[in-house]
Amino acid sequence: MVSANPTPDDERALLASLPTGLLIGGAWRAASDGGTLDVIDPSTGGVLASIACATPADGADALNAAVSAQAAWAKTAPRERAEILRRAFEAVTARGDDFALLMTLEMGKPLAEARGEVAYGAEFLRWFSEETARISGRFAQAPDGSSRLLVMKRPVGPCLFITPWNFPLAMATRKIAPAIAAGCTMVLKPAALTPLTALLFAQVLQEAGLPAGVLNVIPTASAGAVTGPLVRDPRLRKLSFTGSTPVGKRLIADAAEQVLRVSMELGGNAPLLVFDDADLDLAVTGAMLAKMRNGGEACTAANRILVQRGIAAEFTEKLTAQMRAHTVARGTDPASKIGPLVDENTRGKVHDLVTSAVDAGATLALGGAYVSGPGYFYEPTVLSDVPADAAILHEEIFGPVAPLITFDTEAEGIRLANDTEYGLVAYAFTRDLNRGLRLAEELDVGMFGLNTGIVSNPAAPFGGVKQSGMGREGGFEGIDEYLETRYVGIADPYADA
Ligand code: NAP
Repeated sequence: MVSANPTPDDERALLASLPTGLLIGGAWRAASDGGTLDVIDPSTGGVLASIACATPADGADALNAAVSAQAAWAKTAPRERAEILRRAFEAVTARGDDFALLMTLEMGKPLAEARGEVAYGAEFLRWFSEETARISGRFAQAPDGSSRLLVMKRPVGPCLFITPWNFPLAMATRKIAPAIAAGCTMVLKPAALTPLTALLFAQVLQEAGLPAGVLNVIPTASAGAVTGPLVRDPRLRKLSFTGSTPVGKRLIADAAEQVLRVSMELGGNAPLLVFDDADLDLAVTGAMLAKMRNGGEACTAANRILVQRGIAAEFTEKLTAQMRAHTVARGTDPASKIGPLVDENTRGKVHDLVTSAVDAGATLALGGAYVSGPGYFYEPTVLSDVPADAAILHEEIFGPVAPLITFDTEAEGIRLANDTEYGLVAYAFTRDLNRGLRLAEELDVGMFGLNTGIVSNPAAPFGGVKQSGMGREGGFEGIDEYLETRYVGIADPYADA
């Protein structure tokens, strides 16, 4: 285990200890063609590790393993599944420094943020461990008295999980934990940019007693070629995807072929509204959290900060001062508040959005440039008076850039907030509780943060409406995504007695 303040030796030791194969049917193995995939450190551009890169044949083996394991796994006692999850929670927590360092290395986030993700990601294991024993159905008499109605819950069956790079642990545990709880087997394809955390987590689950074949992990550089045949295979019963809306739409279309059950956690374009009556310091703190958590690389990131005219100047000044104070550095540096963006592509896209907003008339209050040196660092950036048609207000930024827009009335604020095809989350700061409740009703989103810049919580249903997706992860609702409802009609043999 690495220390809380990791050294380069700790980094090398951790990387050298990781599994680097595919996990299929309980065994770690090389790719069928011997191919490998390099994992890059976004703070240096250097190679961290070379791991097995799954082929379509490996994908087929992984699904075969999940299908073979399904029947026996569905019959395990809920308590047995609960205890595997509980042991995994204890193990991830005990190895928190390892997981945090690994995420910092492969994704770039500062260690403090990575530790936060360990706590958040591990909590899904504990939450669903507790939910496992509470899966239940119902029994009723038919209204006309002629029969009995038994409603039972069954595991959906083998699932395919496709996860993004921005939260390498939590996006996996948010799917894997409820699937284990429900009695489903799985194939996980983690993001090609950040597969190491998933491999370490799979090893932890093995050590926690997860039977062979229940979880199969197949990192690959050919996502579509490897997962496409699985989505078309009638033995697959569920696809749960977290990632961008364009890829999600394509997967929904592919899944329609066999009417595959899908959960989609897709992109966002979150508005954050600050009203004249808000506690301004609380609003600035909340906006910083909503904007800068994970360096802005979060689906829940505040993408548009809407400020009521009376406080716009003061709010902009305070927010800009806080953005300026953020130290940009490699995530292992204790001073780091923002690490690098995940790759050059992402940095280029962020910069294009900033320059096009300035070209369209926005004012650059801070930043707006690459940080020189190795790695994909970008300056914390504030844009004010952003014109309504600027691309930056309509696309996910996924970077440390805060665009500010001014509004006059509550109705105008709500209209601007809802002016997007996305509907994941919205935030608002106001001291008026009635207004807060009106906003909770009027904003077209799956989640709403009132006087807070963070909504993620394993005990709450996470998910969006509109093009932000369908289905919920976490909360009581999270397990339903992995359960089918089966109704059994029972004739009453004594009806005429
Ligand atoms: P992405 O490009 O859509 O990739 C997500 C996953 O899909 C990766 O594992 C990727 O593999 C895979 N993939 C890409 N093309 C595919 C295809 N044709 N068939 C099958 N799989 C394919 O998204 P990202 O850039 O990793 O993540 C950022 C996005 O995720 C943002 O839009 C963000 O809002 C969204 N997100 C949403 C939530 C939520 O809960 N709503 C949470 C986190 C992130 P490769 O790695 O090989 O490309």
